[in-house]
Amino acid sequence: MRFSQLFAPTLKETPKEAEVTSHQLMIRAGMIRQVASGIYDLLPLGLKVIRKFEAIVREELNKTGAQEVLMPSLVPAELWKESGRWDAYGKELLRVKDRMDRDYCYGPTHEEVITELVRASVRSYKQLPINLYQIQTKVRDEIRPRFGLMRSREFTMKDAYSFHATTDSLDATYQDMFNAYHRIFKRCGLTASAVSADSGAIGGSESAEFMVNAETGEDAILVCGACHHAANVEAAAISTPIFSGSESNAVMTNVETPNCPTIANVAAFLNKEESDTLKSLVLVNGKTATLVLLRGDHELNEPKLRKVLSAPDLRFATDDEIRELGLFKGYIGPQNLPLELPIICDQSVNPNADYIAGANTINAHTTGVVPNRDIPTFKVADIRNAKSGDVCGQCNAGEYDEQRGIEVGHIFKLGTKYSEAMNAVFLDQNGSSKPIIMGCYGIGVGRSVAAAIEQNHDEKGIVWPIPLAPFIVDVIVANPKESDHLGVGESIYKTLVDNNIDSILDDREGSIGFKFKDAELIGFPIQVVVGKGFKESGDLELRIRKSGEALAVKPKALLDTIRNLIDNN
Ligand code: ATP
Ligand code: MG
Repeated sequence: MRFSQLFAPTLKETPKEAEVTSHQLMIRAGMIRQVASGIYDLLPLGLKVIRKFEAIVREELNKTGAQEVLMPSLVPAELWKESGRWDAYGKELLRVKDRMDRDYCYGPTHEEVITELVRASVRSYKQLPINLYQIQTKVRDEIRPRFGLMRSREFTMKDAYSFHATTDSLDATYQDMFNAYHRIFKRCGLTASAVSADSGAIGGSESAEFMVNAETGEDAILVCGACHHAANVEAAAISTPIFSGSESNAVMTNVETPNCPTIANVAAFLNKEESDTLKSLVLVNGKTATLVLLRGDHELNEPKLRKVLSAPDLRFATDDEIRELGLFKGYIGPQNLPLELPIICDQSVNPNADYIAGANTINAHTTGVVPNRDIPTFKVADIRNAKSGDVCGQCNAGEYDEQRGIEVGHIFKLGTKYSEAMNAVFLDQNGSSKPIIMGCYGIGVGRSVAAAIEQNHDEKGIVWPIPLAPFIVDVIVANPKESDHLGVGESIYKTLVDNNIDSILDDREGSIGFKFKDAELIGFPIQVVVGKGFKESGDLELRIRKSGEALAVKPKALLDTIRNLIDNN
């Protein structure tokens, strides 16, 4: 490729709409362009990087024996109705009608389609296991598309689905995929770590997310300083605290707290700490409302609560539902409830201490509420988000440190959720019919590329890891008009390309500074300069983007030097 012909509209200024570095640099380097919120054009350089990432994914998955398929984006509603997700998935599922008024969705994930494919073709345990993957466009009508390819509405995902006769077989494939994911991210120069994740409401199943550490990451990860256990905040178990000391003898007293519906309001108004208050939340599962208690300074962890209550469809009560229970939003307390409600209390609430809670009347709170004494019955469990300083629930010794991460991949033991709902069965060795056991495995392609930029950049631009670079070598001709400089550049370029080293020739008019700026912004790992001194010394300048080093190299030695740099990368 000649730079003079490359379609890469680069920008000097940082685009205002882009908040994170990878998004800014992808726009500035002319890799992507926004068409609508969360919807992007991939320009030649962007697409090239994406294709290189995909090639690595393919290679590593094929090694595990997984086979590539391609499913449609447009999926008939019937399949989603069979699994029950047509109603359950919510607004992220983009639904459309065809000319016959039939319902379809754009697949945000493909468990339904693949389960249908496999159930139609598999009869016997002898045909299992099977592991199928695709690299395909997904559509999710995200509520907050942002950060460019990191969280978009249309994006490329590698999704794989495995089918098994036994849980041992699932465990083996899960482990193969786990290892393949590590290899994929490592090969791309990405430091990604696997963390325990919430396995959703199906329970029992194992799940791991691959996280890239980044300040701008949307996920909170807790890492134990002692045992190094790492978990997504949704799954980070906290050690059960042991409380000593006798029961408080504070007397329950109602106090007026006008216009204090939040914990922050009431703590400030009564001049107390948020940790002196009780947060009372009402959640609903089906027809059952539950009162949930937390220390005022703690946050509810919905996945944990869902699991404890075995309530997959748990949600916050609406304002109307709260009123129907005779309660006042912002002033709810567990003592003297107008109606009996099941109560669950987070384990970090000291049952013998006194707290401030809502008074169950408008604009008032009750002080001196001692859970053990003043709440009729309640269940205790770990239902809050862990934060830095909390004791790890895995080793019960070390403290958690909270870090930010970008979820680039997710692997999951699904079990029989979809096969049961969709009647995907096989005959086992004894001839009895069983639901097929499933696993699923996703990697966000665009998100991984964006994460690679978050980890590999400097103030000048992107510093591509060689395996992802849109071009590995940028051959820069300082002055194409100078005697045969362009000829020298062309012959170097040709040698590189003939030797399968993906290269570009900067044959443009313009100052050398201008060419360096583009090279550094786009982030080519190696630049070879046919510069001013070439005529006299016969030396080329070889510049390494990552280290900033510059070496003088004779044309004869160039190919070997570059090969060495690539091999020792
Ligand atoms: P998140 O919690 O970030 O929304 P998710 O749990 O919904 O992700 P999965 O359903 O596990 O994601 O999808 C598999 C992978 O697809 C994710 O690990 C992520 O890398 C990628 N991904 C998910 N949503 C998006 C999106 N809106 N834009 C880009 N990539 C995405
Ligand atoms: Mg999501």
